[in-house]
Amino acid sequence: MPIDAMTDTRRELTDLERPALEQAFADDGVPVFHARQVFGWLGRRGAAAFAEMTDLSRDLRTQLDAAYRIATPRIARRDTSVDGTTKFLLELGDGKLIESVFIPDTPAQTFCVSTQVGCAMRCAFCLTGKMGMVRNLTPGEIVGQVRVLARETGLVGQAFNVVLMGMGEPLHNYDATMSALRILGDEHGMALPARRVTLSTVGVLPALERLAGEAYMPNLAISLHATTEDQRDALVPVNRKYGLRDLIEACKRFPVKKRDRITFEYVLLDEVNDTPADARRLVRLLDGIRAKVNLLPLNEAAGIEFARPADDRIDTFARILADKGVIVSVRKSRGRDIRAACGQLLVEGAQRSPAQRLAQRL
Ligand code: SAH
Repeated sequence: MPIDAMTDTRRELTDLERPALEQAFADDGVPVFHARQVFGWLGRRGAAAFAEMTDLSRDLRTQLDAAYRIATPRIARRDTSVDGTTKFLLELGDGKLIESVFIPDTPAQTFCVSTQVGCAMRCAFCLTGKMGMVRNLTPGEIVGQVRVLARETGLVGQAFNVVLMGMGEPLHNYDATMSALRILGDEHGMALPARRVTLSTVGVLPALERLAGEAYMPNLAISLHATTEDQRDALVPVNRKYGLRDLIEACKRFPVKKRDRITFEYVLLDEVNDTPADARRLVRLLDGIRAKVNLLPLNEAAGIEFARPADDRIDTFARILADKGVIVSVRKSRGRDIRAACGQLLVEGAQRSPAQRLAQRL
């Protein structure tokens, strides 16, 4: 019989990095190499229970099952777009809901995962921001999304990219996010190379400085969206605390590897930040940074007061950047028909899970 999540006192195994798991095993007198085996089962083979780990003895599996829980987000709903993009609504152990998106062939297979339930950043054009901040995800919940999506898409053991561009601001949940990346990158587990991971952030500056010193260094994407302090204050409220000028200086100091570049994401909002003057300011702002620009024409949604610019405005903006030698691409929205595109991830408050309804009745 499954043990109720509320009364289950077992330790959560998926939150542990491998050295911590090895230590925990050693404390219980379990040979350390079994920790590596368990990591391999979870990361390389997509297992979700000790029962599947058939090269561990039956006794050991029973012992581990009594001491550890392996939490796996439950798929509450799945929507597939005409373009193959699949959005997963996942239910966590406490009934909270998050979304993760599988984007096939862009050109790689990509999993877009969440780092928080909701988001505190409240960017003016983003639906997740309208939810406000509910809670941080744990390392196991961040890794769990990758584990579930890899299994569901048949990509266990194959190459894929992970982008931290789902719900939440990764640098506002720094420790859990970095711990999750170390678990994903562990050579005994999924062994996901750092170059296959992209962390997208509004630029929480103290955390960005910390990121600069990490051993496991993902690609960096900065959600810029504006070229003046006033404009960015209005669109990305955290700018009032960590301003544009300081963000640009931090990017100049950021250790970018030889052939790499920082991606600057720029949501194009009709008649707000999409004029030729904006484009020229953007060129000047990025001068001296190994940058590439990813233009994101707004994905419109009810409750968002901005509009997507017409294609010729988008082209004009992109051409000004390109003519000045800035590497620029326009992001093709994937999964718009199932509201899986950037900024469209929202778990409606009214949409309660069975577990949430149950918890309320108790
Ligand atoms: N909090 C992080 C990662 C999540 S959002 C960040 O802000 O970078 C991923 C990207 O989608 C960000 O660049 C975000 O600004 C962008 N985005 C948000 N709402 C959008 C919308 N409605 N249309 C297009 N892009 C949007």
